[in-house]
Amino acid sequence: MGQSLEKILQKKFQLQQFRPGQKELITALLKGKNALGILPTGSGKSLCYQFSGYLLAGSTIIISPLISLMEDQVLQLQKQGEKAVIALNSSNSFAEKKWLLEHLEKFRFIFMSPEMFLQPQVLQKVQQLTLAQLVIDEIHCVSLWGNDFRPEYRQLAQVLQQLDNPLLLGLTATATPKVIADIQNLFFYDDSYVYQGSVERDNIALFVEKTEDKAATLKKFVHKTAAPGIIYCGTRKMVEEIYQEFKLYLRIGYYHGGLASNERRQLQQQFTEGQLDWLVATNAFGMGINKADIRSIIHYDLSDSLENYVQEIGRAGRDGQASQAILLYQTGDESLHYYFQKQRQEERRVFQFLIQQPNVDESNFSELQRKWYAESQMEESAAIIQRLTQHESDKFSQLNHMLDYIQASGCRRAKMLAYFDESLAEIPRNCCDFHQAKLLEKSTEVFTAEKTLPNWQEVLLKLFKE
Ligand SMILES: [Zn+2]
Repeated sequence: MGQSLEKILQKKFQLQQFRPGQKELITALLKGKNALGILPTGSGKSLCYQFSGYLLAGSTIIISPLISLMEDQVLQLQKQGEKAVIALNSSNSFAEKKWLLEHLEKFRFIFMSPEMFLQPQVLQKVQQLTLAQLVIDEIHCVSLWGNDFRPEYRQLAQVLQQLDNPLLLGLTATATPKVIADIQNLFFYDDSYVYQGSVERDNIALFVEKTEDKAATLKKFVHKTAAPGIIYCGTRKMVEEIYQEFKLYLRIGYYHGGLASNERRQLQQQFTEGQLDWLVATNAFGMGINKADIRSIIHYDLSDSLENYVQEIGRAGRDGQASQAILLYQTGDESLHYYFQKQRQEERRVFQFLIQQPNVDESNFSELQRKWYAESQMEESAAIIQRLTQHESDKFSQLNHMLDYIQASGCRRAKMLAYFDESLAEIPRNCCDFHQAKLLEKSTEVFTAEKTLPNWQEVLLKLFKE
């Protein structure tokens, strides 16, 4: 290569330097090595495949789980002047899809949902294509152990051979060792290159607020802390209750898995575009948030693990500006998670019983049991049961580590990093409550605006009436 990678970065992307992991991943790909990038949200994952996509011959296919994610990335490439970019998903018309498939080789970057990619006529077209690399974005969706499991992601591993094992790049922000092991076992088992970024985000101040009246404490925080922000709750019911509590005087929306997909998309868009200051949500809200200026993440309920907590608070401050994570804790809050754990244990026991019957009747299965059953077609059912039982005891210990973090008597950041086998090199300016970090407060300007503006539902209603 005549030019250094840095020169290309400046010329093509107008960026001065690589962010951690980018150059390492790109170099591996250019050497023809499969690569897995585990990088925190907002650390420039898409630059990796864009960069290699320009240097490698042929088309880059990017598998992406959400239409909104695809649209964001197509837009980003178009803004950089790229014309040979398309997205193939359920929003295309039949005629559009037909035309695109016939002209696939004209495109340098092709985004697809996994469902689309697995369709036989699509796979057939892909086989005829010169494929520079296959990128699997949000690759943690392959794992049964994460919150975002998608069976189609697992099937991707099975079609790679049909495609003559193309150069593979997997990307994710997950921090769970078990999910990462799962990804590696399925896709990156030989001498693939793996880059795992640090979980440290020094621009996010860490607070834990112990209280005997969580509702009142939340009120206090929501009134004074900087927005935009997300309030995470453990249940849909709590999400709706908090929304009801604040909707009269805050620009707030709510988001959970019970909403229809178009409602979810709309909420996400309103939040991204700044029409809402707060979003109260379950952890279903996360993947695909493309908003760099989130200032505060408040946890009304604790997460079930530090892995998930890190993921959730990592949505703050992607612009690099000062942000904060505030966790509210009232004695006994963990019982919610013990309840979930027990429920899942029960589900596993029933599953264990059902699959031992001479005629397995799938119609008796819960949604989760159906996923386990699909899995047990691929490996011995005894192995599945063993993994599920192991998972239960892991969940228990993960929750204990979360509680340790809450009860920490020293620096919270050091405590968190230690859990991920990292150490704190330098105490950031606004570190944590132990280090007397200052709460980022909202500006008065925002405060007055908030008082005069109607909430999003009223705005919508008005729009529909006009
Ligand atoms: Zn600290």
